[in-house]
Amino acid sequence: MGVQGSCHCGKVRIEVPERPEWVADCNCSLCRLLAWRVAYYPPDEVRISGETTAYVWGDRMIGIHHCPTCGCGTHWQTLGQDFGKMGINARLLDDFDESAIEVRKFDNAD
Ligand SMILES: [Zn+2]
Repeated sequence: MGVQGSCHCGKVRIEVPERPEWVADCNCSLCRLLAWRVAYYPPDEVRISGETTAYVWGDRMIGIHHCPTCGCGTHWQTLGQDFGKMGINARLLDDFDESAIEVRKFDNAD
């Protein structure tokens, strides 16, 4: 049994194998606006159901997905190139408590 999560309206559901030990708080121009807390998993260990819409930012080669109904950011995934990981917005995971785990500041401001 993994850890479940969903967006606000419940149309997008996420399942990951275990709770993250830490999450990333990134200050790049996009994450700063979205306020995601990102947990990383190998793509084949993550199950996502429901339709999402992807925003592809410049040439960064990643699609940033959100629920088209409620707008919650759900995950990001690489396009083409395989990083061996994908990012889940840990805020969506059931009982996510950022005060209970390590939040690593990522400095990608430029
Ligand atoms: Zn939703």
